[in-house]
Amino acid sequence: MYVEKKMKYVIIITIIIALYCILYNYVPFLHLTGSSSIICAKEDIELAEEDYAWKRKNMVERQIIARGVKDKKVLEAMESVPRHLFVPEGYREYSYYDQPLPIGLAQTISQPYIVALMTEMLKAGKDDVILEVGTGSGYQAAVLSEIAKEVYTIELIEELGLQAEERLKSLGYNNVYVKIADGSLGWPEKAPFDAIIVTAAAEKIPDPLIKQLKPGGKMVIPVDSSFLGQDLLIVEKDENGKVSIEKTIPVRFVPLIEGQEVVK
Ligand code: SAH
Repeated sequence: MYVEKKMKYVIIITIIIALYCILYNYVPFLHLTGSSSIICAKEDIELAEEDYAWKRKNMVERQIIARGVKDKKVLEAMESVPRHLFVPEGYREYSYYDQPLPIGLAQTISQPYIVALMTEMLKAGKDDVILEVGTGSGYQAAVLSEIAKEVYTIELIEELGLQAEERLKSLGYNNVYVKIADGSLGWPEKAPFDAIIVTAAAEKIPDPLIKQLKPGGKMVIPVDSSFLGQDLLIVEKDENGKVSIEKTIPVRFVPLIEGQEVVK
C-alpha cells in the first residue's frame, strides 16, 4: 500500500517535470534567470557560425573545386576565411552565393570563385610577400594572408581602407598591412614583391607595378580589352627581368582609378 502511494508521487512529479520541460520552450516567463537566456543567445551565435562554416564548405566544393581550382592551400584558405564578416550586414545571408556583392561606396567584393582563381594564379607560398591593389572589404587580403608571409594592401577610398584595416585586425590577420593611397604607384618602400594582385581593372598594366615585381614573380591583373570587356592577365617576370603576358579569362571588375588623390 505504502509503495503504491510512493509510486503515485513519483509518477506525478515526473509528469510535472516533463510538462515544465515542454513548456520551457514556449513560455518565456519560465526562463527565470537572465543567465539561461544568455546561454541561449550564445548557442544561437554558435549555431549560426556552424551554419556559415557549412555554407563555406559547400561554396568551396560547388563553386571552386567544381570549376577546376586545385591548389590545396587556396581551398583551405577559402574554407577558413569568414566571408560573411567582410560583407555589409544587410547582404550577409548572400555572402556565400556565387556572385560579387556591394560593399558600399559603389565598390564590390569579388565572386568567391574569382578570389580563389586569382589566388591560385599567383602561385604564392608561405615565404612570399604579396602586394594587393584594391583592398575593398579586406577579404582577398585575408585569403592571401593565410597563404603568404606578409600582405601589403592599398586602397584609394579612405573610408573603405580604414574599415578593412580595423576588420582584419579584429579578426587576427596580423600579417596584413593596409595603406590608403593610389595603388597604381605600388608600395616602393616594401618592394620588390614575390607576387602582385590587382583587384580593379586597369586601362593598361601600371609601370610601377612591373618594376616592383621580383624576378621570378607573378602579377595577376584585370585589364581593359580591345573589345568592351576586361581580360584577366598573368604577368610573369623571369629571372633575367624579361616580362611575358598571358591572357586568361574575360572578367568584370570596378575600374582602377589612377592619378587621383585619396578619396576622403
Ligand atoms: N579586393 C577587394 C575588392 C576590390 S573592389 C575585396 O576583397 O573586397 C576594388 C577596390 O579597388 C575598390 O575598393 C576601389 O576603391 C579600389 N581602387 C580603385 N582604384 C584604386 C587605386 N588606384 N588604388 C587603390 N585602390 C583602388
